Amino acid sequence: MTTVPVLKLNNGVEMPQLGFGVFQVPPPETKAAVATALKAGYRSIDTATAYGNEAAVGDALAESGIARDELFITTKLWNSDQGYDTTLRAFDASLAALGLDRLDLYLIHWPLPRRGKYFSSWKALEKLYADGLVRAIGVSNFQPSHLRRLFDEGTVIPAVNQIELHPYLVQRELRAFDAEHGIATEAWSPLAKGGDLLREPAVTQVAERLGRTPAQVVLRWHLQLGNVVIPKSVTPARVAENLDVFGFTLTDADVAALSALDRGGRTGPDPDTFDLV
Ligand code: NDP
Repeated sequence: MTTVPVLKLNNGVEMPQLGFGVFQVPPPETKAAVATALKAGYRSIDTATAYGNEAAVGDALAESGIARDELFITTKLWNSDQGYDTTLRAFDASLAALGLDRLDLYLIHWPLPRRGKYFSSWKALEKLYADGLVRAIGVSNFQPSHLRRLFDEGTVIPAVNQIELHPYLVQRELRAFDAEHGIATEAWSPLAKGGDLLREPAVTQVAERLGRTPAQVVLRWHLQLGNVVIPKSVTPARVAENLDVFGFTLTDADVAALSALDRGGRTGPDPDTFDLV
């Protein structure tokens, strides 16, 4: 079975560099999808309160028989739960839904800068971390201005910043900012949602040369940049394909060719203006 390499986070906790995302997997399908991923060898699962499928993820974990300390489970604080007390309550509800007594990584899902609550939410995450209820705390969709506020007024540096990142949105500055501050960058929608990117000649030519699939080439690009990746698929053959990315290497020229696809192309909202609760 594939062993996924781990990255050491800034507090020494080890996180698998490749995990399984479950955004938009309907709850009734989630248990089977996660079970397929765990059987294939994934050990890191990325869910969120907003996905509505934490309980189904928990069911798959419980039935897997895999030891808790081999798993790395991430969930996220939803926007409407931001604030100190509400964050603590939301965390309890997530743990209960997942059927766990401790989480590996808890993230603030979006900064919602206009609402001004991400810092009080972060203080709650710091408390959960101090209390030993979560092994690492981090953020998602944070820009440097949001992170600087945590550095200035908080006591814990986020371990992870989970951001939209793929060859259409290479995020050079934000990745460099994260790295400079010891924050691991985790790529969401690493395949740009499996659309045009996988038909780009720059991707398909490398795939043909290496006898790999376009998705594998894109995932390899992420891994070689040092990103954590969490591709999602409900198709068992793709679940296996996306994990089978540790037996080949892209050349520096291949990596550069994929990076040259950058066009600032977001598939999701802009974190500076997104304000949905
Ligand atoms: P991905 O970039 O992972 O793409 C998923 C899509 O690509 C699905 O339609 C899937 O189809 C298809 N696909 C997967 N593997 C392959 C393959 N090998 N070949 C061809 N097509 C493939 O997009 P997501 O948006 O799901 O992002 C991944 C994860 O990131 C999410 O599940 C979630 O955990 C996280 N995320 C976090 C966000 C945040 O704000 N923090 C926002 C969005 C996502 P199919 O399933 O039909 O096989």
